Amino acid sequence: MVTVDIEKCVGCGECEDVCTFGAISIVDEKAVVDQDVCTRCGACAEACPEGAIEVKGEAGLSGQDRVLEDWKGVWVVAETRHGNFAPVTFELLGKGRELAKDLSTELTAVLMGKDIKAQAETLIVRGADRVLVVDNPALENLVDDVFARILARLARDEKPEIILAGATAMGRSFIPQVATLLETGLTADCTGLEISPDSRNLLQTRPAFGGNLMATIVCDTTRPQMATVRPHVLKALDPDPSRKGRVVDVELEKDLFNSRIKVLESVVEEVEGPGLTDAEIVITAGRGVENQKYIALLEGLAHCMEAGIGATRAVTDAGWLPGRAQIGQTGVTVSPKLYMGFGVSGAIQHLVGMQGADIIVAVNKDPDAPIFDIATYGIVGDVKEVLPLLYQRICQERGIEDA
Ligand SMILES: Cc1cc2nc3c(=O)[nH]c(=O)nc-3n(C[C@H](O)[C@H](O)[C@H](O)COP(=O)(O)OP(=O)(O)OC[C@H]3O[C@@H](n4cnc5c(N)ncnc54)[C@H](O)[C@@H]3O)c2cc1C
Repeated sequence: MVTVDIEKCVGCGECEDVCTFGAISIVDEKAVVDQDVCTRCGACAEACPEGAIEVKGEAGLSGQDRVLEDWKGVWVVAETRHGNFAPVTFELLGKGRELAKDLSTELTAVLMGKDIKAQAETLIVRGADRVLVVDNPALENLVDDVFARILARLARDEKPEIILAGATAMGRSFIPQVATLLETGLTADCTGLEISPDSRNLLQTRPAFGGNLMATIVCDTTRPQMATVRPHVLKALDPDPSRKGRVVDVELEKDLFNSRIKVLESVVEEVEGPGLTDAEIVITAGRGVENQKYIALLEGLAHCMEAGIGATRAVTDAGWLPGRAQIGQTGVTVSPKLYMGFGVSGAIQHLVGMQGADIIVAVNKDPDAPIFDIATYGIVGDVKEVLPLLYQRICQERGIEDA
């Protein structure tokens, strides 16, 4: 917090002038700080000629902390859900290993949660050299202000040059707060990460302008360089039980765990069949499926094939399938072994969410539909004819007689 000693303050306005966040105003010839807006960067305290301003607690980065060479190491924020690691954690560790090798540095996983320490070894087996563990009952649920404060504190203390996290509901909710607290940049939803051999900067690639071009973003004046990556974009390494690493317990002062958020209830949604993002087969409905009747047929096919059901935005906008089924830039990313698209045109915003599939099968009546440019197998035909045939064939072959 930033405090003003009213006795010393002469209302000169120097602090107001240097505050780039507009957090200070002069009221009745005294400086008044809006604590909600203030980032505790300390510029006002430095500028005050009377020494009337003091920054207490979590200070922002000082100019000295911004010596880029002082920041070393790659960090991955480990994410757990109901006691299990989110797969994106292992995917990030896979990429993190590669980046750490290129930078000749160490890969650290940051594990925050309640009764979580026993899981630290798994992160070493998956690629981490070191695991920083913050195990505290206050971290049972995602209280994003606390998670953000802790990660920012650890980063200030240890100065990693790169922090990676999942572009998941969890990552999206607290990682931007960390970037704000550290006053550094954050590139969300990256699809590619590489180290520039010349500058050692992290090259962060992500779709831009509605997915019509890929932008490579560099954070070259501040540290850490922060990026989130969606699940299923990167490949995890195979577990290696022979890997050795260090597990470090981090003790932090109690105040850091106080939250303005109270979690009343946590509800697990029941989903029939495999979850879309984890399914090995994904069957996707596009606008060409035309109506609910064929959606039902498609769901039947998915049931037979133990596949997840996906959709284009056209389909979720029409209300034929729920929003969580949307694949693409503003939906989820999938990388199944087999993706089958029915009446999907292949708009770039959809392709960015499924082009990592091993095999892509597309059914479209337009031979020039862009989806055929990336399809492994293409069927030029009417969904209304092809889908019932596939349904009959595949379901019968699997011994489901009522197909
Ligand atoms: C910022 C932004 C973000 C977006 N995010 C997403 C996203 O996350 N996911 C997403 O999917 N879209 C997204 N979109 C929308 C995207 O641009 C496309 O509009 C959408 O993907 C098109 O869906 P579609 O392929 O089902 O429909 P259409 O593009 O209308 O294609 C329908 C296809 O079906 C074929 N067809 C029609 N009838 C039949 C039939 N009887 N048999 C066989 N084929 C048939 C047609 O030839 C056509 O190729 C986004 C757009 C923007 C601008």
